[in-house]
Amino acid sequence: MMCQVLDVLSMGIVSIDEKYRISEWNRWMEIHSRKKREDVVGTSLFTLYPHLSTPQFIRSCKSVLKFGNFVFFSQKLHNYLFPFQATGIYGDYFEFMQQSCTLTPVKEDGKTFRIVITIQDVTESVYMERKLKTLIQQDSLTGIHNRRYLDKRLNEEFLRFKRHGNLFSLLIFDIDDFKKINDTYGHQFGDRILINLSGLCSTMIRGSDILARFGGEEFCIILANSVADGARTFAERLRSSVEEQKTRFDDKTDVGITISIGIAEISDSLESMEELVHRADDAMYEAKRQGKNRLCFYEGKV
Ligand code: GH3
Ligand code: MG
Ligand code: MG
Repeated sequence: MMCQVLDVLSMGIVSIDEKYRISEWNRWMEIHSRKKREDVVGTSLFTLYPHLSTPQFIRSCKSVLKFGNFVFFSQKLHNYLFPFQATGIYGDYFEFMQQSCTLTPVKEDGKTFRIVITIQDVTESVYMERKLKTLIQQDSLTGIHNRRYLDKRLNEEFLRFKRHGNLFSLLIFDIDDFKKINDTYGHQFGDRILINLSGLCSTMIRGSDILARFGGEEFCIILANSVADGARTFAERLRSSVEEQKTRFDDKTDVGITISIGIAEISDSLESMEELVHRADDAMYEAKRQGKNRLCFYEGKV
């Protein structure tokens, strides 16, 4: 009767004694491990899964057996205990099924404990959580980061500067006369320009830099560890690469754009991240005023 109940559960149930010998292995475990109950009962868990014999797992088992403690192995920390294949579409995203597991003490004859391990498949919720996280941080048109993510990262970078003195620059750039592009070639083509520009910028930044769409036809780059000449060299390279890039319209015309870039550096005088954004924005408008297709440092330093 008990076995039948355990077999209808959509979670893994394993029971082990103080020598780590398996005494229960429900149907769910049979399916995912591809090991039959009769083949595993009496075998040590560590013979079947040697990777589990870590000091941490053994310590956890001992605390369950000795003190009757309850131990939780969260997916966030461990990903999984049992290396089972992720099923369905999740196989493309995860090498192994993501699991939340518990080790529960069960008293058998009034004094000695057994450990009941429960294994819950949380792959779907982990997948959804990660997808959602990507979605809320991504710009839907271009696929690069959005303003929400940029704000979060700017605040993190600001704290890193305050704590460790990590320097960085902020570039804000805006497409010149983009209204004309939309008016001449249509909004859809304008969208393609935005996508191509994002693609080009992505190839130019380093892994530690952050590229984001600030809104409309305005973009931002956090240049990690680059200030002054480093930032200027990068911005100039960006400006000229954008000028060179062409997007084909109607299989006939090559359409190019230019951008105006404002640069501001992190400094001790800044009270908040918003101030740095304002500085870069001011510099960008100064670049527009000076005739567009150029870069400008905050306070007119070029
Ligand atoms: P300036 O050189 O001063 O920046 O001139 P501009 O024409 O680029 O500036 P303005 O702010 O007048 O126009 C920005 C245009 O960008 C207007 C808006 O329709 C267009 N735009 C904003 N977001 C999108 C978008 O997602 N797709 C397309 N196709 N156009 C967009
Ligand atoms: Mg513009
Ligand atoms: Mg604009």
